[in-house]
Amino acid sequence: KLFSELQDLKGNIRVYCRIRPFLPGQTEKLSTIENISENGQLVIANPSKPGKDGQRSFKFNKVFGPDATQGEVFADIQPFVKSVVDGYNVCIFAYGQTGSGKTYTMTGPTGATEEEWGVNYLALNHLFKVSQDRKSNMVYEVAVQMVEIYNEQVRDLLSSDGSPKRYPYFKQDRLAKYKFVNLFICICVCVCVCVCVCLYITLFEVFFFGCLNSLLILVILDLHTVGITTISQPNGLAVPEACMHPVISTSDVLDLMDIGFKNRAVGATALNARSSRSHSIVTVHVCGKNVKTGTVLYGNLHLIDLAGSERVDRSEVTGHRLREAQHINKSLSSLGDVIFALAKKSPHVPYRNSKLTQVLQSSLGGQAKTIMLVQLNPDATSFSESMSTLKFAERVS
Ligand code: ADP
Ligand code: MG
Repeated sequence: KLFSELQDLKGNIRVYCRIRPFLPGQTEKLSTIENISENGQLVIANPSKPGKDGQRSFKFNKVFGPDATQGEVFADIQPFVKSVVDGYNVCIFAYGQTGSGKTYTMTGPTGATEEEWGVNYLALNHLFKVSQDRKSNMVYEVAVQMVEIYNEQVRDLLSSDGSPKRYPYFKQDRLAKYKFVNLFICICVCVCVCVCVCLYITLFEVFFFGCLNSLLILVILDLHTVGITTISQPNGLAVPEACMHPVISTSDVLDLMDIGFKNRAVGATALNARSSRSHSIVTVHVCGKNVKTGTVLYGNLHLIDLAGSERVDRSEVTGHRLREAQHINKSLSSLGDVIFALAKKSPHVPYRNSKLTQVLQSSLGGQAKTIMLVQLNPDATSFSESMSTLKFAERVS
């Protein structure tokens, strides 16, 4: 049964649409959603063009209406999550304008109860369950990374102090050891200086050799760490420098994500503004070892809350805000191009055009599975944004 399920999912790109409900307190409740049908058809109506002329229909693998619960949405994603344990790579994207419910779907509302948990938590919860079920022959290790891409730069969200960090936690002990080495060198240099002063050798020479020594040690340290990180990540997120955190339970994950989301706010003048203009990626690495045969399987799951897809009026923004908008535009359109090329089985897939697609390259295409969750705000004032969201979805599905 599992095999046929996997066959069915193989090499697939699924596109689901979710329409968020009107929010409590929202007075004007004019909807653009004309009809949702069981078979995945969605009809959207232009509020300024009444009648059949203003209507357009789109087809998805499934459409979730405003009443759909988090659990119902996850039920359709669950088989994909399960396949990660069998060595598949899976990417789940939430796409849509700001305020359309991307973060709600992926993470849940702030202070979510268990019923309100988003895809991130439900997926990890499910992974732990599956990996524990099969413990007889297989032993699994799960590790999590969390990064943000903002203005084409990757930032680690799980470093301890919120600043970008080059080395994973578990290598800090080694760093501490090198601090000792550096202290030792300092002492040696001091001693040398004294000796040299006595022996009349120029200070410049001492300084030069001291620096050379420190540099050598740094180079050795660097090579060593890079070697380790590439071994532990055979085909995951192409950000070897981001911290990798081993996790053994859902509560570990909840704690980590808490840190991640707090770090996402660091350095932002307005939290919402920043988070809606950056992509956040939670990557779950699963390594399964068969204790009898010794075979090892690697799978990874990427959970991506994309930057808001709304178009920015070029006449109104300048400088830094314009640059931000251009970066978002570029990365979302390259993502569309990559998925489009994969769906059409094109021989050339343009991964190199944006940081987002570069970072996810090994998990898009090949045997990998992609799920696009297209989010819509039903409000009539969002009609034109909803149309452009739907056109993006139409192209990739
Ligand atoms: P985005 O991340 O796309 O900017 P949010 O996830 O922040 O959007 O959603 C905007 C608002 O709508 C939030 O207050 C959120 O709680 C609410 N919301 C979104 N989707 C739903 C839903 N399915 N049910 C209830 N409230 C929702
Ligand atoms: Mg959001």
